[in-house]
Amino acid sequence: MIKEIVYRLNKELPATVKLVAVSKFHPFEAIQEAYEAGQRIFAESRPQELLAKVKRLEELRAERGEDYMSGIQWHFIGHLQTNKLKMVLPYVSLVQSVDSERLLNAIQTWGAANGKVIPVLLEPHVAAEETKQGFAPEEVYEILQKSSEYDYIRFCGLMGMATFTDDESVVRADFAALRSIYDNCRERFDSLAADFNEFSIGMSDDYPLAISYGSTMVRIGSMIFGERG
Ligand SMILES: *Cc1c(COP(=O)(O)O)cnc(C)c1O
Repeated sequence: MIKEIVYRLNKELPATVKLVAVSKFHPFEAIQEAYEAGQRIFAESRPQELLAKVKRLEELRAERGEDYMSGIQWHFIGHLQTNKLKMVLPYVSLVQSVDSERLLNAIQTWGAANGKVIPVLLEPHVAAEETKQGFAPEEVYEILQKSSEYDYIRFCGLMGMATFTDDESVVRADFAALRSIYDNCRERFDSLAADFNEFSIGMSDDYPLAISYGSTMVRIGSMIFGERG
């Protein structure tokens, strides 16, 4: 079942759109199954759970050889507390959910101390009710204006979420707002544009719409793995 859906999604998605399989709350076996269908990018939203899965893979590699499940990549997509960075940053190829300047500064400090440049997406908030996390659009521009101060951060684009609603017009308005922030970033900060080319929008319920707004990366969980337990 997992395999069939991964095959189907890969057939359906345009070549410009990467599939990120959101494996949070699902066991490692589910990741193995998706991997066997060719899936390589997996996303987790809790540091503890990410670390447990990374460790599980290390154990399996010790048993079965270093090449076991080679090429797998982990993304982080949840709220990241600054005291949890060491559980996440050594293992991920992208932190999609940078939602505050405080977090960004902590990642920069960790990167400098550990000699690792961390690729990130900034998360603006546009959805009506979720005003607690994420940047206002102006804050995104202010950060990119001083991006050269963040020499251990690679700004790779934006991640966004639409309002949780069945009303398609609201979802469209949110995606359009995110799209215009993304376009503004690329226009205003053209020195970044070579790196700044990911626009991560779209989940199980709204990914076709997200693609019509130019998504380069869809984050799909329940459609692949089933409802979370
Ligand atoms: C859980 C989650 C997803 C996946 O949601 P589904 O509706 O299960 O596809 C995508 N993005 C973020 C940030 C999430 O937390």
